[in-house]
Amino acid sequence: MDERIRAYVLSHRDQALRDLERLCNQPSVSAQHLGLEECALLAKAMLEEAGFTVRLFSVPGGAPVVYAEQRGRSPRAVLIYDHYDVQPPEPLELWQSSPFTLTIRDGRAYGRGVSDDKGCFAARLNAVKAWRAVYGVLPCTVRWVLEGEEEIGSPHLGGWVAEHRELLQAEGCIWEGGGVNWAGHPTITLGLKGIAYVELVARGGNRDVHSSYGAVVPNPAWRLVWALSTIKGPGERVRIRGFYDRVRRPTRQEREALRLLPEEDQHLAESLGLKLFVKGVRGYAFRRRLYFEPSCSICGIVGGYTGPGTKTIVPAEARAKVDFRLVPDQRPEEVVALLREHLRTHGFGDIEVVEHPGGSAPARTPLDSPWVRLVAECARDAYGTTPVLVPTMPGSGPMCYFTGLGLPVAMAAGTGHPDNRIHAPNENIRLEDYEKAILHMASVLEALGR
Ligand SMILES: [Zn+2]
Repeated sequence: MDERIRAYVLSHRDQALRDLERLCNQPSVSAQHLGLEECALLAKAMLEEAGFTVRLFSVPGGAPVVYAEQRGRSPRAVLIYDHYDVQPPEPLELWQSSPFTLTIRDGRAYGRGVSDDKGCFAARLNAVKAWRAVYGVLPCTVRWVLEGEEEIGSPHLGGWVAEHRELLQAEGCIWEGGGVNWAGHPTITLGLKGIAYVELVARGGNRDVHSSYGAVVPNPAWRLVWALSTIKGPGERVRIRGFYDRVRRPTRQEREALRLLPEEDQHLAESLGLKLFVKGVRGYAFRRRLYFEPSCSICGIVGGYTGPGTKTIVPAEARAKVDFRLVPDQRPEEVVALLREHLRTHGFGDIEVVEHPGGSAPARTPLDSPWVRLVAECARDAYGTTPVLVPTMPGSGPMCYFTGLGLPVAMAAGTGHPDNRIHAPNENIRLEDYEKAILHMASVLEALGR
């Protein structure tokens, strides 16, 4: 990469840390409606100081979307997605330093949101600053979307993206997250699973009744259990007709990338105290199931009396919360429709299906996309080691709104490390990862402008 840029980054660590501190010391907890407006304004100010033209889009009942743009020498553009909201810091007593006072200890910076996702934002911003300081102009055009509701499921982002497609034109997108794995190799992740979340409600009489009537009064807890057992059996396959119809078979390249990922099943089994995973999968079969197969989980189930001792009743109601993790090209709204149809045709039309908002579609960018190649080459450049391409994560997020625009999306040039404790007390980043993220982003800007 450009040696003057590299030298600038390495000699401006203090400036980069000050930016990180400004962001992390501003609380911005979306779940608690805490400091969001203030953090959006802070992000706007910091982007403006780095030469961006910034617009704040207010979202009715939500946190503002920050949109920034800066023209570079080349009109070719990268779109960056980050979020300025963070998880709640509780439980506070488990933090070794105050969650909203960035603290440096032993080569790490500690603070709520420092990894997820303020470190990414600050690192990428410092890549921009380096180019401006050294050459006065960016090699390519940069567009940036920062939302303030990622940690509560991005309820407004899809609508915002749909209304502002013209602002989001780019060669490709750099997603929040990214960083290095345990072995220190940079990771480039190319997808997320989707999710549909429902509550199933079975109802019997209009009140609990003495269970001596159990011979004649229909029991909603039984009905719920019977209905659930039609959805998935011990074979672990979802029995909803059509559920698998849209499941895209992983490509040969994706399977190959999966084969190269580190073995983590043993470690996970030990940490969970499990002898066996579902269907006994291990190694590659474990990863294939985890990354490429959809799933259906009963997340919670409740009905009737569950307190101490006995209470002999037929309950009036029973409920189960169920999620479906989806893979390309399944669609959350279609899966919910198929579920309703399934319950009807199996004689459970009386069970109410309450769909929770916040479902999202799966997203996956092909491994052979030119964008992925560019980002991977820049990773090699910045980290001095070969990046690991991860076809998808098993989690979910709003990536689908951007891949839905036809954009290739790569989660890379981030400050992540598996020991970052995101969402947990003592969230941290390693300062070396922060610096590498800046270099990686700086290299992407250069490569795109070339
Ligand atoms: Zn998060």
